[in-house]
Amino acid sequence: MTRDTIRKSEADRRRAVLPDPAATRQSFRWEDAGAMLDGLPGGGLNIAFEAVDRHVAHGDGERLALRWLGKDGSTRDLTYAELMRETARFANVLRAHGLQPGDRLLSLMGREVALYVAALGTLKAGLVFSPLFSAFGPEPIRTRMEIGEANAMVTTESIYRRKIAPWRHEIPSLRTVFLADATAAPEGCVALGPAMADAADRFEVAPTAPDDMALIHFTSGTTGRPKGAVHVHDAVRAHAATGRFALNLRPGAVYWCTADPGWVTGTSYGIISPLVNGATMLVDEADFDLDRWYATLERERVQIWYTAPTAIRMMMRAGVEAAQPYDFSALEFLASVGEPLNPEGVVWGSEVFGRPFHDNWWQTETGGIMIANMAAEDIRPGSMGRPLPGITAGVVDTSGKTLRDCPPGEIGELALRPGWPSMMRAYLNEPARYAKAFRDGWYLSGDLAMRDAEGCFWFVGRADDLIKSSGHLIGPFEVESALIEHPAVAEAGVIGLPDETAGEVVRAYVSLNPGYTPSEGLEREIRGHARKRLGAAVAPREVIFRNTLPKTRSGKIMRRLLKARELGLPEGDISTLETDET
Ligand code: ATP
Ligand code: MG
Repeated sequence: MTRDTIRKSEADRRRAVLPDPAATRQSFRWEDAGAMLDGLPGGGLNIAFEAVDRHVAHGDGERLALRWLGKDGSTRDLTYAELMRETARFANVLRAHGLQPGDRLLSLMGREVALYVAALGTLKAGLVFSPLFSAFGPEPIRTRMEIGEANAMVTTESIYRRKIAPWRHEIPSLRTVFLADATAAPEGCVALGPAMADAADRFEVAPTAPDDMALIHFTSGTTGRPKGAVHVHDAVRAHAATGRFALNLRPGAVYWCTADPGWVTGTSYGIISPLVNGATMLVDEADFDLDRWYATLERERVQIWYTAPTAIRMMMRAGVEAAQPYDFSALEFLASVGEPLNPEGVVWGSEVFGRPFHDNWWQTETGGIMIANMAAEDIRPGSMGRPLPGITAGVVDTSGKTLRDCPPGEIGELALRPGWPSMMRAYLNEPARYAKAFRDGWYLSGDLAMRDAEGCFWFVGRADDLIKSSGHLIGPFEVESALIEHPAVAEAGVIGLPDETAGEVVRAYVSLNPGYTPSEGLEREIRGHARKRLGAAVAPREVIFRNTLPKTRSGKIMRRLLKARELGLPEGDISTLETDET
């Protein structure tokens, strides 16, 4: 996948928060990230204090912390000082209802202000916060509540009545349910509004230690049953530093992360990192809507934008023309995470927004961005970039007794040297699975990658998704990216199917751009295009048209599901499945 390197202009380099990435990589130590923070006045470290109260103590209380954009077009602004008071009220409400440090609170609601206040207020009170997608059905909620042993939850009245009330009493750990929108709560619940109104707006932040549990994040469930990754307050050092390194976050910058807090991106970079870095963050209550998004970027003069490949592909599907009426001149930095970012998408960003998308790689487990290009660095479309300062990444061969370092150009498992502060400390109740992720001093990510001679990392696929065909190792990403280059193809998911002679053969599922309809001719043409780009051994043998591809709620293509269905195997855990039409 060779595309010309996108070079940063001198002006862009100078404007970057860290204009000399090479020097930063050399000199940065994780202890330095501590200097970006204050620590609690009485000792200890607390994420919410660093995100909110600290700025008020520094005299920046009047700066806008959060601008909320309602589905109905209304807006609500909160300064850092207001956010400090609201989160204090919430922490006081928790205490008033007997909730103590170490207890666990689970959230289940849309992107409303109350969700953000609850997240930070929970951390202030020293409780553990665990966010779920509000669209989850009763079963996924219940499973996660059991794994997470939730003691309290924040939700809305209608979600509660529909999805939780029928079995609530079967969860012995669950003591308190707060209803964010209720004025009078049903039996056994607390109406949050009135409780907040009665609560004091000052709260002494709980004296949490860096290693105290702070967050439980469930993985996306792309490859199987979601795991509950445990993170501690010390993670805030990584949220602070990686936000600067990878997203160019800085005080007062207008920043928009489109992810829902139910996914780790929407918490680490949709709440904590922007606030710790003193930025002004937008929260959009609505889900993806092309015109709404373009209008938001223009009207709010968004400077830094963090989104995902699935959204980028939807924008690409609508064409450049849809973006033309809008003024994106405020935008200065674009980044993407969650799935491989096809080189087409990177370049498309440059054409439409005047800036390329910066790909970056990380996982629920890593708690923060691990591999990315910094603002002042050139971009090689299709590559994820380089390890951030403080991160040592490798590509290793796991087949032997001991791990072997793969030379540049060889495919191996993407591995990281443990030691950064936002690394997970456990998979809840699954010590064996956790232990299995570490070997010979490396954390093994489960993803396959390749490193080039310049130290850039290239994503190949998830270890489970790798295809072995006639002696070739084929990563789905490479095939999918080639398919997307065809003008008819909007999205592609590629799997391997068992074959007697080849071992496996490549099968592609694609959805089409508007104006194209499935036909045998088009199928042949797309296969021909792929063959020309990739060679006959790697190109898909078959292309199947679908309206959409099965995806998780965080927007990831579920290749394992395509495969299981094709082979008539059990579908496994599909609690996070979102779109699914054939
Ligand atoms: P599960 O672990 O439950 O199967 P998941 O791995 O999708 O789900 P997340 O932690 O949300 O859960 O996602 C992390 C994974 O997403 C990475 O391991 C990788 O496979 C993929 N990913 C994230 N960012 C990128 C990227 N920039 N390029 C390629 N893949 C990415
Ligand atoms: Mg994973």
